[in-house]
Amino acid sequence: MCLVTPFGIPGLAVVLLGVEGSHHIQYKQRVQTSKNGRQALSPINPEYFQRVAESFMDSLYPCVCQKCGVVCSGRVGNRVARARCPQCRQQRSRFGHTPLRSFKLPLWIFGWAVEESFLRHPKVLTATEIQRRVGISYPSALLLKRRIQLVACQQNEAVRAIVRADLGREFRRFRLPPEGRDVRKSVRGRSVVHADTMALFSASQRANKGRKRHRHKGLTSSIYLSDKLGGKQIGTLVHVMGTQKGWCLLDSVPDQKAETLGKIIRDTIPTNVPVFTDEGYKWLYRVYPNHRMVNHSAKSKDIRCALSAERWCKKGVHNQVAEGFNGSLKSAFRGYGYVRPEWSKMYLNEWAFFKNVRVFGVRKIADQRERARRTRSLYGITPRFFLL
Ligand SMILES: [Zn+2]
Repeated sequence: MCLVTPFGIPGLAVVLLGVEGSHHIQYKQRVQTSKNGRQALSPINPEYFQRVAESFMDSLYPCVCQKCGVVCSGRVGNRVARARCPQCRQQRSRFGHTPLRSFKLPLWIFGWAVEESFLRHPKVLTATEIQRRVGISYPSALLLKRRIQLVACQQNEAVRAIVRADLGREFRRFRLPPEGRDVRKSVRGRSVVHADTMALFSASQRANKGRKRHRHKGLTSSIYLSDKLGGKQIGTLVHVMGTQKGWCLLDSVPDQKAETLGKIIRDTIPTNVPVFTDEGYKWLYRVYPNHRMVNHSAKSKDIRCALSAERWCKKGVHNQVAEGFNGSLKSAFRGYGYVRPEWSKMYLNEWAFFKNVRVFGVRKIADQRERARRTRSLYGITPRFFLL
């Protein structure tokens, strides 16, 4: 069976899941064809994308027999949503209790959308484009997108656990040189965490009907409308964390207070890890001894310049990784036009998920989920504190 995508590049299945052999049985699928035969001309290969969908779902949500505790690897005729336990021969629902529950479209469309989102990251796949490319209606395309976003949201905890474990291992008993000294030598080749906050779809003066913004200060002001217009939130405040050429975690936050951001950082980053931020995180040093800040509005000592040249990087302390994530997130979200703040979490998790899949691979995330599942069933509690 051909595992190279119709475009000639090895796809998600080969690169990340290592799908080989042909233990997946092909199923008859209802391939939608439009009247003018557009499907016939389309380069989409349904069999390939069905296998992408199946291996993606099987690794993240393995169908486990409750009685025997083994993965139901048997297939049931041409019913793609059923699986059979190899020991007790009982049938189980393969996608029940997963984001694909009651999925009525052909399965290959899900596989196609997942692979397409993965391949084009950091750019995004919009519902309108799904509608146009596979020929389904807009509401179906949007629901399909929501299912992918749900998958992404449910992997968040596993990704955080991986990040926490990796950082904890790398920075056990690590200390940066004292504040003000050059840190370049001690952080070279290390995965220093960079954190920053950014606003998406900020409220312009036009949205505020010409009013200047007074009520809130800083970034927070740009996501809320003026009080006279009801003070509704229309933009999204995003907390960005990540390492160079590594993972990325995004959180939609209501403000930049220590109690909001501090909790997110403490949940993910062990205390010995070096964290580089801008001046918005003045409170972080209390928990993180290796926290360093770069002053983006540092004044110059020379009277010819207002601002110092060291306002981006001073003695090796900089925030460029988070700023880079900000830039690519901003240009990616321009593809959506607008995202309402109540949905922001889904969109942000989706973007971060495909970034993290590129870094860790689906297999590592799936293994982490499996470990968490085992721990939970052992102790009957949430696994978070056991995975540090
Ligand atoms: Zn069984």
